[in-house]
Amino acid sequence: MPTTPQTSATILVIDDSPDIHRLMGARLRSEGWTILGASSGEEGIECAIAAPPNLIILDIDMPELDGFETLRRLKINPATLPVPVIVVSANTAPQDKVMGLELGAVDYVAKPFDFSELRARIRAALRTQRLLDMLAKRAHIDGLTGLWNRAHFDARFHELAAGAQRAGQPLSLAMCDLDRFKSINDTFGHPAGDVILQRFAEILSSIVRESDVACRFGGEEFVVILPGAIPEQAAEVMERVRAELREQRWTRHPERAVTASFGVAPVDERGAEAALAAADAALYVAKSSGRNRVVISGERAALRQAG
Ligand SMILES: [Mg+2]
Repeated sequence: MPTTPQTSATILVIDDSPDIHRLMGARLRSEGWTILGASSGEEGIECAIAAPPNLIILDIDMPELDGFETLRRLKINPATLPVPVIVVSANTAPQDKVMGLELGAVDYVAKPFDFSELRARIRAALRTQRLLDMLAKRAHIDGLTGLWNRAHFDARFHELAAGAQRAGQPLSLAMCDLDRFKSINDTFGHPAGDVILQRFAEILSSIVRESDVACRFGGEEFVVILPGAIPEQAAEVMERVRAELREQRWTRHPERAVTASFGVAPVDERGAEAALAAADAALYVAKSSGRNRVVISGERAALRQAG
């Protein structure tokens, strides 16, 4: 969810009047915004779905698909739902304003425009949207480790699993669990446990690829989605994480090493839930056969022994 600086915002103007497009272009471009135009509701929706802009200015009075119906369609499409819409109309009847706002517009501006007011309203809408984006992103980040959290995993995993199936691309899932973490917490205290969780998250982030999605699953459990990777490749990545963690020296307990166990499974036609269960089962095998190792689902015999 990239935050776009205000100066580079893209604004889509949906209006049937060529004059309005000329005016908007001339009066808004000076703000550093990129102004795109669509001359009908249909064209505007198409344009917005293809490349969601930062803001839409939508005329209510258009032939065929009017602004209300256009707005309704923009708000039922997940791609365009988050884009703030300012509706504009020559009709300033209260029921029109109410209808526009009820349908999900963030603001209502009367034609003819006072451009300094319109610019200020656009700036305000972009500012609010940036804050919403930031909050939405923060709601998906684990506070202690800075990794994605469980909510993000749940949302992304099903999306990536479905995408990989459609594209016929491999996708792997790795579950990791810190070994005997409770005992470390009990012996050295929770602050020591937090240091371990944070350091493990750093190791994980530094080793996984840019396209991988590393999440804190809960407690001392982590999960990584690896798009494009077959289980053997995913296991190689996890093996590097495992080795790096094992090599860490801890200032609070230099005599006690910390290790983790890993279960890796492919995400295939059996679906996301089955893959999660398979990775969890492989993790269980890693635990029950001595911990500090990476086990691929179905690979009971060929355990990667730890150093
Ligand atoms: Mg019109």
